Amino acid sequence: MSKKVIIIGSGIAGLASAIRLSSKGYLVTVYESNSYVGGKISEIRKNGYRFDTGPSLFTMPNLIDELVSIGNINSDIKFEYKKIDTTCSYFFDDGIILNAYSDQNKLKDELVNKLDIDSKIISNYLNYVAFLFKSTHKIFIEKSLHKLSTYLSFKTLVSFFKIPFLSIFKSMHKVNTNRLKNDKLVKIFNRYATYNGSNPYVAPGILNVISHLEHNDGVYLPNKGMKSITNCLYEICKKNDVVFELDSKVDKIELLDGMVKGIYSNGKYSSADIIISNIDIHYLYNNLLKKPYYINKHSKINRSTSAIIFYWGIKKTFKKLSLHNILFAKDYKHEFDEIKTSQNIQSDPTVYINITSKHISTDAPKGSENWFVMINVSYDKGQNWQKLVQEAREKIIKKVNNFLNTDLEKFIEYETYMDPVSIQSKTGSFKGSLYGSSSNDKMSAFLRHPNFTNKIKNLYFCGGTVHPGGGIPLALNSAKIITNEIISN
Ligand SMILES: Cc1cc2nc3c(=O)[nH]c(=O)nc-3n(C[C@H](O)[C@H](O)[C@H](O)COP(=O)(O)OP(=O)(O)OC[C@H]3O[C@@H](n4cnc5c(N)ncnc54)[C@H](O)[C@@H]3O)c2cc1C
Repeated sequence: MSKKVIIIGSGIAGLASAIRLSSKGYLVTVYESNSYVGGKISEIRKNGYRFDTGPSLFTMPNLIDELVSIGNINSDIKFEYKKIDTTCSYFFDDGIILNAYSDQNKLKDELVNKLDIDSKIISNYLNYVAFLFKSTHKIFIEKSLHKLSTYLSFKTLVSFFKIPFLSIFKSMHKVNTNRLKNDKLVKIFNRYATYNGSNPYVAPGILNVISHLEHNDGVYLPNKGMKSITNCLYEICKKNDVVFELDSKVDKIELLDGMVKGIYSNGKYSSADIIISNIDIHYLYNNLLKKPYYINKHSKINRSTSAIIFYWGIKKTFKKLSLHNILFAKDYKHEFDEIKTSQNIQSDPTVYINITSKHISTDAPKGSENWFVMINVSYDKGQNWQKLVQEAREKIIKKVNNFLNTDLEKFIEYETYMDPVSIQSKTGSFKGSLYGSSSNDKMSAFLRHPNFTNKIKNLYFCGGTVHPGGGIPLALNSAKIITNEIISN
């Protein structure tokens, strides 16, 4: 008889798990507290504008292709995306603008011409991050770090021999300063720490691996925006008879003799052979299992950063801006110090602007642009966010005006925002952190919560708050790890 699986949460890892298991004949039901699927991958449509509200950077599309091919049997659901030529535009306070390109020769030309550096520095750096990726992804990303079999494999042994070369014991910043020898380049490559909510001045150099995805593989954009990723996975799930219970918060997991038995949602009990949690691990232990002490060891790692994001409908187009844009702080280190220690918005925030209407014309009315404007802030420690959002807004507008020589306020015709508190209430993310726990500690890969626990049988964990970590590619890998484990048991 087919086994009954309940997945709690329809984030990208929950949907990926549902596809993988339903395609193997498991009977899957997904419980989701929101009225829509996708979790952090969500969108707003208002006054002719469309905004992706969460992730904006899409790398490793092959992971989605793989799910489409696994789950899309006898169906014509398509997931379409394209590679982006100008991957990011970086703006510096001295007026220099650097464009990064998917094409490595074009990237080198841009950096050599504008920064007067030797192109070998770039080639060597890109080879170095490719080496980091090749040496680590099979072990640290694609496997559980909490199973003996991982450590008994030949590949793991080889990886362990490479440890002295994996920049684990120096900070990203130190490694980048030594290798890149140019302040602007160092800033550009330090910023990849923020892709999992970490601080490049303390996070281990091994995190430089993140830039490999963008520079050696590429930056992509789904033809219909980020939300179309989870829309597509949802459609595939439904074709594979996955049942969705929306508006159905799970309140409790029922256990018997150390084994999962079922869940309670909307006052109703449903039994299951296997339960997969795709929700923040802190909520799971604190609320659904009422066993907060199980999370003690993992609570020692700090939460990753959160963000304040403005979604602005701008009735003007800006030629200098591309899909992804960074307006750098003058003193990047000081910004991270302030995020860590201050209760206020950092004095000079680095501003990220994402404009999908540059590529998807239907995302904004003609002659307008859909701006997703984000600054990193601390996770919620009880700050007065209403006040801080106003403070952030003023600082961002002032900065944009200076860098783009404009009067932005005049052109904002639609506006809404998210802060750590609303991120928490809309996505169930503990303290509003974007990526679960931070990777600032060199041991964080081992301290992050595993994909299963030996305390409760038939309970599995996927998503951004467990191994291998936050961000779409890693969350997708967590789904692969647990479903391989379930299928092989
Ligand atoms: C603003 C922002 C920007 C980001 N930018 C990027 C980016 O550019 N690139 C990138 O790769 N990643 C980015 N990320 C991170 C990325 O979005 C996440 O790592 C990833 O989407 C997490 O997916 P997940 O599978 O963990 O599920 P989540 O998206 O966290 O979804 C969990 C789901 O569980 C549901 N839920 C919670 N509690 C319950 C309950 N009790 N019962 C039922 N359902 C419940 C929630 O409603 C939610 O739908 C960003 C995140 C944010 C917030």
